[in-house]
Amino acid sequence: MHKNSPIKIAGAGPSGLSAAICLAKAGVAVEVFEARQAVGERFIGDFQVIENASFLEDASDMLERMGLKKNFFFHPGHQAVFYDHRLRAQRVHSKRPFSYFIKRGPGKDSLDSGLLAQALDLGITIHYGKRVKKEAVDIIATGPAVADGLAKEMTFQTDLPDTISVLFDMNVSPGGYSYLFVLDGRATFGCAITRDFDAIKTYFDLALARFQKIAPFSIETPQIAFSYMNFCLKRSAVIQNKSVVGEAGGFQDYLFGLGIRYAMKTGYAAAQSILMGVSYDVLWKEEIGEKQEVSLVNRFLYERGGNLGLASFVKRAGRSDLQHYLEKWHSQTFWKRLLLPWIKKSWKKESTCFHRIADHWCREKPASSSEISLGEVKTNPDSDNKVIKK
Ligand SMILES: Cc1cc2nc3c(=O)[nH]c(=O)nc-3n(C[C@H](O)[C@H](O)[C@H](O)COP(=O)(O)OP(=O)(O)OC[C@H]3O[C@@H](n4cnc5c(N)ncnc54)[C@H](O)[C@@H]3O)c2cc1C
Repeated sequence: MHKNSPIKIAGAGPSGLSAAICLAKAGVAVEVFEARQAVGERFIGDFQVIENASFLEDASDMLERMGLKKNFFFHPGHQAVFYDHRLRAQRVHSKRPFSYFIKRGPGKDSLDSGLLAQALDLGITIHYGKRVKKEAVDIIATGPAVADGLAKEMTFQTDLPDTISVLFDMNVSPGGYSYLFVLDGRATFGCAITRDFDAIKTYFDLALARFQKIAPFSIETPQIAFSYMNFCLKRSAVIQNKSVVGEAGGFQDYLFGLGIRYAMKTGYAAAQSILMGVSYDVLWKEEIGEKQEVSLVNRFLYERGGNLGLASFVKRAGRSDLQHYLEKWHSQTFWKRLLLPWIKKSWKKESTCFHRIADHWCREKPASSSEISLGEVKTNPDSDNKVIKK
């Protein structure tokens, strides 16, 4: 049926392009509509990770299974240094990569450019500068609508050797963490928070000062961006027969705000649903339904533990293989299953919100977070992240 009428996808991020590539490989005609003038424009060449601990399948095997080539920067992470609020360092390592580092943005070697190249090779048509309405498409892959978390990031050239460092300090990045990734002289520094959004610049400066205290480093040709992310739990991710994939559907790991794997998995599930005639809701629930619920419990523990809890997390991470340690965090257990309904009840947002999915659970944000006015950041269902570059 679809061979005559192309499948239309809104959004050329990892979720939309994964869906498009999977469909095109099966011989289905696909058209992708992208609001911006290029793929990955909300990012600035920053390093991100495809995490490798929340699912048993290795992320590299997952890409292969989905028929996606690794024609982008794809660097396995085996070691890192974690810091607690007292700047106590803990070296962590893993036999299997705990994450694969990738680049985001429109530039060379990025995940976005790699997926785009694969899409173009398959003859997929991409219409740029086309912000489409959900009524006009079959798959909605338009990225985050609501700021449940906010990050300020800086990319730059530096004299530091390769470094993967994460600082867990609630006073410096409330509800989140700060990170410095350096690979081949190119660096990404970021501060991600889940509350007190108006003070993001102050937290960013504080975090940067703390990293400079650990080891001073040069910052050349910096580029800065603010960006946000959203999360919600839902019973269905289908709106008027359209599949909502990736962050547009609030698909993201609550614990660390890592959404690429969820985005690709849900994009792939939406494509499979069209190809096999199976309900998209059934497919995404099989893949990630329980995982996202577990991640909500993890987030609760993360926040309730405060800096002492985080210090313990950091210490334990160094005692065993990091990938195994994180895998345990992401696993379902009897007591996490028991905690979930209680957390959902006590954290539930009662008033309306801007998440796209109608029937969902979303979290009441801590007092100082604002959904509508975030200084430079716009949040509403019809506008994606605004990136500010200096
Ligand atoms: C600073 C930061 C760091 C992050 N780091 C990590 C990380 O290390 N690991 C990880 O797993 N996740 C990370 N994430 C989250 C991850 O980037 C997202 O979860 C992922 O990009 C979601 O993919 P997506 O395809 O759903 O959405 P997006 O990547 O946002 O793509 C959506 C696309 O849709 C387009 N669009 C929007 N509206 C419309 C419309 N109406 N019509 C047409 N096109 C439209 C947008 O322009 C955009 O190109 C990070 C997020 C941020 C903000």
